[in-house]
Amino acid sequence: MKTAAVLTIGSEVVEGVILNTNAQYICQKLTENGYKPVKVASVDDDEGSIREEVQRLLECCDLLVLCGGLGPTEDDRTREAVAKALSKRLILDEEIKKKIHDKVSRYYTSLPRNLDKQALVIEGAQIIANPVGTAPGQLIDFHGKKIVLLPGPPQEMKPMFDSVLEKLRTEQNFKTIKMLFFAVPESVLDQFITDTSVKSCVRIATQASFSEGVWVRLTAPLDCFVEAQNLAQRIVEKFQRNFIGYGDTSVEKALFEELRKKNLTFSVAESCTGGLVSAKIVSIPGASSVFVGGVVAYDNNVKVKILKVREETLKSFGAVSEQCVVEMARGIKELTGSDLAISISGIAGPTGGSEEKPVGTAYFCVTDGKTDSVEKIFYPQERNIFRSRIATHALYLLLAHVRGMI
Ligand code: ATP
Ligand code: MG
Repeated sequence: MKTAAVLTIGSEVVEGVILNTNAQYICQKLTENGYKPVKVASVDDDEGSIREEVQRLLECCDLLVLCGGLGPTEDDRTREAVAKALSKRLILDEEIKKKIHDKVSRYYTSLPRNLDKQALVIEGAQIIANPVGTAPGQLIDFHGKKIVLLPGPPQEMKPMFDSVLEKLRTEQNFKTIKMLFFAVPESVLDQFITDTSVKSCVRIATQASFSEGVWVRLTAPLDCFVEAQNLAQRIVEKFQRNFIGYGDTSVEKALFEELRKKNLTFSVAESCTGGLVSAKIVSIPGASSVFVGGVVAYDNNVKVKILKVREETLKSFGAVSEQCVVEMARGIKELTGSDLAISISGIAGPTGGSEEKPVGTAYFCVTDGKTDSVEKIFYPQERNIFRSRIATHALYLLLAHVRGMI
């Protein structure tokens, strides 16, 4: 199997100012395309450090992907460092220079000279077009190895890396099945997979994220891919209710697609999530066709005045209770006229818990006007991890309802 290394460049990465999401994205895509990522390194914007690291990483792998430091500023030194590491010249490409000038001229009254740095190309490199920003990427063949240079901003890097993957795909041609599950522990999924006999040509990886769910990736060479497909089918059958979808999906995306298919709308009444449920669904383009709106009823007064939760309910059972979420869901459905509604009320902590209802307790209700389905979960985690998790859980319950699973 061909090996790959990733080198991310920038002081903000090594100083911990930003999370290295680029390395994560690149490694995921490399794995899906038949490479084995063997090293991920980060260096700051120092030309000597970049050069040394490039030379070191080229020793260990067939492909080296670099990202960051392709911009116009003084601290962007990747091009120069790579050219030196490979003992190649940098050549100013007049066509790229013109394209950059055309692209940015409406933002400037006079163009700074440093912009032209982005038109410097390492001799022999193929250009990777940048549809979002200005600095193009570069693909270099070097003694049987490949080197890819990409800009740092993720919104630029991702489409550029996707476009170059076709050229990088290995002959062995591996394929990956990616699946997302929610509300099932990673260990339970993993145990089932371990107990299911499968040929060793299928590589299995699971990964849990508190707000997204559990990812399962099955990678196999083409001649054994049917094994991966069979295993995928067995996992989906076993965890039907928890299965969100294949590929680059999410609970909110799957819900959006399901509601659109069935021509249904929903609204939400949230308490401790403070708008997160609404924000998650609105992150999907076209959300207005399925999402009507929501109310953040954080204070009990808002629950009573806007959502028509009865004072008596709050007095007898409290805001974090089955009775309260049912009234919240009915209230928001009535208020907005949506087909479906969900509500959430929970104790995010760190204070406010009791023996009966400890921090981490959350109640949900999904209503279609005829039946109210209530669920209680216990997820004792840090306040904001809890909030993000239960916001996704609310959307997951609605998805299960629409799919006829609850
Ligand atoms: P620019 O033209 O924007 O300067 P660049 O190619 O020079 O692009 P950098 O200056 O290294 O890229 O990074 C620009 C921004 O991209 C960073 O401030 C950060 O927000 C984001 N970024 C850079 N590297 C990463 C990374 N490894 N993971 C996530 N985001 C990153
Ligand atoms: Mg920069």
